[in-house]
Amino acid sequence: MGYLQALRVGLAVVALASALFASQVVGASLADLTLFTAGYLLLSATAEGLRRAGRGRGLAVVGGMLLIDGIYLAWVTYVTGGSDSPLQFLLYLHLIAVTLLAAYRTGLKIALWHSLLFFVVFYAQAARLLEPIDEAAADGALNTRSIFTVAGFFVFALGTAAFSSINERELRRRKVDLEALTEMAKGLEQESDPRGVAQSLLDNVAEAFGFQRGVVVAAPDGGDPSLMAFRGPGEAPEAKAGIDDVMQRAWDARATILVKQLDPDGDPRLSALMPFARNLVVAPLFAEGQPLGVLSLEYTPGTGPRIERRVVDMVSQFSAHASLALRNAWLGEQVQKMADTDALTGISNRRTFEAVLEREVSRAARSGEQVTLVMFDIDHFKSINDTHGHQMGDTVLKKVARTLAEGCRDFDVPARYGGEEFVVILPACSSKESLVVAERLRRSLGEADNPVPVTASAGAATFPTHAVDPQRLIAAADEALYESKRAGRDRVTRSRRRGASAGKAMAVE
Ligand code: GH3
Ligand code: MG
Ligand code: MG
Repeated sequence: MGYLQALRVGLAVVALASALFASQVVGASLADLTLFTAGYLLLSATAEGLRRAGRGRGLAVVGGMLLIDGIYLAWVTYVTGGSDSPLQFLLYLHLIAVTLLAAYRTGLKIALWHSLLFFVVFYAQAARLLEPIDEAAADGALNTRSIFTVAGFFVFALGTAAFSSINERELRRRKVDLEALTEMAKGLEQESDPRGVAQSLLDNVAEAFGFQRGVVVAAPDGGDPSLMAFRGPGEAPEAKAGIDDVMQRAWDARATILVKQLDPDGDPRLSALMPFARNLVVAPLFAEGQPLGVLSLEYTPGTGPRIERRVVDMVSQFSAHASLALRNAWLGEQVQKMADTDALTGISNRRTFEAVLEREVSRAARSGEQVTLVMFDIDHFKSINDTHGHQMGDTVLKKVARTLAEGCRDFDVPARYGGEEFVVILPACSSKESLVVAERLRRSLGEADNPVPVTASAGAATFPTHAVDPQRLIAAADEALYESKRAGRDRVTRSRRRGASAGKAMAVE
């Protein structure tokens, strides 16, 4: 409403200035306009005051003022030449302002009001109630120009409403797009798994812009990309290795590219993942200047034969945002892996071993199962170092770790306990079975194709037979291991401690 008030002052100033500086052109002097304009401004100021003070009746005051605007403008145009008035543009300006600032329907009503006043002034001149300024009015016959003037009011109101609604729809769509982007960003904050990030990118883009089929292929540090996310009918087809031409093109362009169709020879990977796809949108995924992969989507021409620029831009924005999240997820995964594994051998480290043992013992305690821990120590390892050097020692340690890992079941956990000592957690393995498993593993170490032949001694202890908590289980296995050493090495010894039954016996005593 403040803008409408400013417009009124503007209209009055233009009217007065025209009379002052171009009285010849407008056909009226300042004196002709001053009194009426002053009255109009006074009235509008009073109305504005009333509107601000009077709660509830504000709308009536605003409506009334719009009618008065019409009367003022009708009078200004009358004194400045009627249908030939050079100030007629003020009427159109008023119409545009009301249509945009108030409402489309108000704009139409005001167009009607201006038309009505135009006819009133016209016929008042024809009837000599007003001094005839207008030639046509003096004749009393509407000419084509008058009809154009009146039709112009409606064209202006309707045109302004139409353009404004197009503009508004665009703004609304932009808002929806940005909301979708924010929604994905929020979701990504919770996501630490790289595949989850990729799937979230694909699903969010697909849902926001109506893509039915798409994939994300990516790899950390620009390595050979693998399928990270798939969306489409059925299961993801077998992924092929290699970098497709369209991926390379998107990376080189560093921008989203549009691809009419894939070439099975040049783009074997995407062709296999998205068979017979046409009209593809391929967005590169970059982080810190390094290409990570691509998001590839198939555009289904539902809304029109050509994809909108807006959609392409948004796909780029979604991709740029998710690229960073993808990179962070990979870094997080890497850090976690470094914290969990032994740097030399790549198997679990002591920290992970302790956590897993704790978890498995608690689980066994709840389910009434047994858990066996086997501890290995390489025999005379020091002499390997001394004879062949530390590098050879390291190679042997890596080979031992690999042999243990290969000899385990999927749910067994081999770990490096420290130095040349290794442990294997065997869930659901009884004390009796433990000797068989430990013996098999020990033998495999000796038989492995080592650069230097090695033997190992082992000690096995089982929860709850030999110990009732993780710490005592480790101590029991360690004790048994040293018994193997004392007895001549290259053998397995089972703990002779008493776990659950010893506890019970003590409790009875
Ligand atoms: P025993 O049969 O009594 O176990 O004899 P051993 O020589 O294996 O026993 P000891 O525990 O005295 O020696 C372990 C050696 O392992 C000492 C250390 O230098 C070596 N070692 C520990 N960690 C590493 C490693 O990461 N790399 C290499 N190359 N050697 C290591
Ligand atoms: Mg040792
Ligand atoms: Mg040793």
